[in-house]
Amino acid sequence: MNKIPYGRQHITEDDIQAVVDTLRSDYLTQGPRIAEFEQAFADYVGAKYAVAVSNGTAALHLNAIALNVKPGDKVITTPITFVASANCVRYCGGEVIFGDIHPETYLLDIKHVRKILEADVQREIKGIIPVNFAGRVVDMQVFRQLADEFGCWIIEDACHSPGGFFLDSNQNQVMSGSGQYADLAIFSFHPVKHIAAGEGGMITTNNEELYQKILNLRTHGIQQDPSNRIYDDSLWYYEMHELGYNYRLTDMQAALGKSQLSRADEGLSRRRELANRYFDFFKNKPYVTGQSGVIEGHAYHLYVLEVKQRKELHKYLRDLEIFAQIHYIPAHLMPYYRQFGWKEGDLPNAEKYYSHCISIPMFPSLSDEEQRFVMDKIDDFYNG
Ligand SMILES: *Cc1c(COP(=O)(O)O)cnc(C)c1O
Repeated sequence: MNKIPYGRQHITEDDIQAVVDTLRSDYLTQGPRIAEFEQAFADYVGAKYAVAVSNGTAALHLNAIALNVKPGDKVITTPITFVASANCVRYCGGEVIFGDIHPETYLLDIKHVRKILEADVQREIKGIIPVNFAGRVVDMQVFRQLADEFGCWIIEDACHSPGGFFLDSNQNQVMSGSGQYADLAIFSFHPVKHIAAGEGGMITTNNEELYQKILNLRTHGIQQDPSNRIYDDSLWYYEMHELGYNYRLTDMQAALGKSQLSRADEGLSRRRELANRYFDFFKNKPYVTGQSGVIEGHAYHLYVLEVKQRKELHKYLRDLEIFAQIHYIPAHLMPYYRQFGWKEGDLPNAEKYYSHCISIPMFPSLSDEEQRFVMDKIDDFYNG
């Protein structure tokens, strides 16, 4: 058996050709491939607008600026996420309030979020960043109701869930990143994610004002719409209105992203097939205390098991070159966040989850044979 990672990109000849064609074209950055990729992505998730940026972290940063996060503001997110979900608040000088997770969904627990909001008598909390952890899509309809009650905005961190959806109160499918309830959503095209572009990110929204603002912020705050210029209309003239960044994506990456996107549904159904098989295999095992499960709309970026003797299992699999991973070390226990007073015991569900969780291999090119090997080896560890 070859090495089996927990996630891996899948590059086809078509993907390679798309990049090569771009290298032979007139544009290497901010050319026609960017708009094509943005349009295709907006269509895929059912949002009005999409802005391609250099990575998912840059997408989060631009969102936090566009929503005007400033020192003194507080924002709620989950600790069971990649640290970038929280860090974007710190980039703008805001304070991160971590809410606990629900022990079965592993997602930000709305009941705990409500408690935090109710205790915030000064109304310093300005926004919520729910994360579609592992690919399970947060019920954004109920989060929107809660956010409106307290005057908060919502950024949906959808890095794990392109193509995923949740069912609303009428049992309608609401696509992750569709902008129906969240103000803004973000995606990443890091190689372990569903769509690989090397590096890359996307922001989706239905809010035109935020869209225009983010377009400008992506390129140094220089006005992209010439009709917004105040002082001059000369052909050489450009005008910077606010402090932005260079967070552009290259055309090579956009070409790769668009080519990958055309196979996204195929990859998603393979992920769901693998998840079904994992679920059936592990559902009655005494050593499994929880798992991602078979959930409608789940995009299965990860397949998580909660197990006994997690540390020993992780080592055992590693020795067999099965590189299972732990997602995530709770963000509030990072030394960086501990300096703000966060400590063990603050978020019991997240910490309990972390002590048992393991992400087993989940990616479309994982073969049936490799999956069987992974399942059998896990079983051997407990029965051997
Ligand atoms: C990958 C990821 C990010 C950051 O994306 P990058 O493209 O690596 O900057 C943010 N949030 C979550 C949940 C992620 O998985």
